[in-house]
Amino acid sequence: MESERRVVVIGGGAAGMMAAGTAGSRGLKVFLVEKNNRLGKKLLITGKGRCNITNNTDVEGLIENVPVNGSFLYSAFYTFSNTDLMNFFREYGLELKVERGGRVFPLSDKAEDVVKTLEKYLRRNNVNLIKGEAVEVIAEQGRVNGVRLKDGRTIYSDSVIIATGGASYPATGSTGDGYEFARRLGHTITPLKPSLVPLETKEEWVKELQGLSLKNVSITVMDDKNKKVYQDFGEMLFTHYGVSGPIILSASSHMRDIKNTSYRIVIDLKPALSEEQLDKRIQRDFEKYSRKHFINALDDLLPRKMIPVIVKLSGIPGDKPVNQITREERRILAALLKGLKLNIRGVRPLKEAIVTSGGVKVDEINPGTMESKKIKGLYFAGEVIDVDGYTGGFNLQIAFSTGFLAGSFC
Ligand SMILES: Cc1cc2nc3c(=O)[nH]c(=O)nc-3n(C[C@H](O)[C@H](O)[C@H](O)COP(=O)(O)OP(=O)(O)OC[C@H]3O[C@@H](n4cnc5c(N)ncnc54)[C@H](O)[C@@H]3O)c2cc1C
Repeated sequence: MESERRVVVIGGGAAGMMAAGTAGSRGLKVFLVEKNNRLGKKLLITGKGRCNITNNTDVEGLIENVPVNGSFLYSAFYTFSNTDLMNFFREYGLELKVERGGRVFPLSDKAEDVVKTLEKYLRRNNVNLIKGEAVEVIAEQGRVNGVRLKDGRTIYSDSVIIATGGASYPATGSTGDGYEFARRLGHTITPLKPSLVPLETKEEWVKELQGLSLKNVSITVMDDKNKKVYQDFGEMLFTHYGVSGPIILSASSHMRDIKNTSYRIVIDLKPALSEEQLDKRIQRDFEKYSRKHFINALDDLLPRKMIPVIVKLSGIPGDKPVNQITREERRILAALLKGLKLNIRGVRPLKEAIVTSGGVKVDEINPGTMESKKIKGLYFAGEVIDVDGYTGGFNLQIAFSTGFLAGSFC
């Protein structure tokens, strides 16, 4: 009888909760094992606490936004698409809204409400919550038969879904345990790398700008062959080691070969103005501040913290009277504001990345069911799999779609 079948889901994040609720809705006896005191700890910090749950594009658009192994997700995205996900949340009482770039958020702007909705799904489908840390997936003769917990308990089951997440932001519980479970069962783990990650720069002057956030700037990423790799517009942040913030994180996932390629980022601080318009604007400011020194004439143009840095980089003495600044010097200043260069030294460590790139090799997973091709009854869902998307809600859609599939077939 269907109701006698048992499944253990390891990990109460986005993928695990979706998988567990879905398996429960089929009448299976489901045990959801989570080592944290609460479910969805990472979900709570997503989208700066607002949780960008998916993107309102079409299925092809979802796949295009998964640069690593996107085509593996065809079945998952078609079986449980972003529209299905939005309908699911609405059915469970969570109102949604769509923002710039198709990003979908809860209307309340509270990630907490997303977690509560998923908890409701678990309750309605009689999922048994087990607070504990899984330490081993037990398999015999090519078939799973349960999960062992750190406290010595063993939960026997017909299927096991590994939904332990990646190895980024380990304080949320995703410490990479699932990779080890999978490896011990004969799976290949492709190298783990940070994706959507802050960048370290060669320029030391970034330290002086630490904490400064720039809105409405545009960035262009160039490789060492001077080829444009990426362009974006929005918000970025300076840190003590380099740069971060939404457009930088997105840019990082386009720097595919950071070990062997020297990338640089060119920041346009005034993207709404052409160089000519900017020059006129500077002239106006210089007329207004004609009696001041150069360093005291930039307040209308730049955030205060940035002025000493720009003055230094321009090579124009800060104490030069504004009315003595030449046309050529003005041109240098305008070019600097339209093209502030940062040479990228490297990325921050995996633990600081938004997502982990790499994971359980997709060739070893059935894309139509998320079942392992090596061990019967073993399934994978979410970030533990070697797939990762850009920012914009794509990573959570991956977690929900693969979780739904695993929960439907386990
Ligand atoms: C700061 C930040 C912001 C983000 N914002 C967004 C966003 O707005 N939109 C978006 O699409 N993506 C976002 N992401 C990415 C997204 O959060 C992840 O891709 C997604 O949460 C992966 O879901 P998952 O269920 O696979 O893993 P997780 O959400 O990491 O869940 C894994 C769970 O497994 C548990 N676990 C692990 N090992 C064990 C074990 N041995 N025993 C028991 N339990 C275990 C963990 O405690 C954890 O609860 C963000 C990520 C970060 C870090």
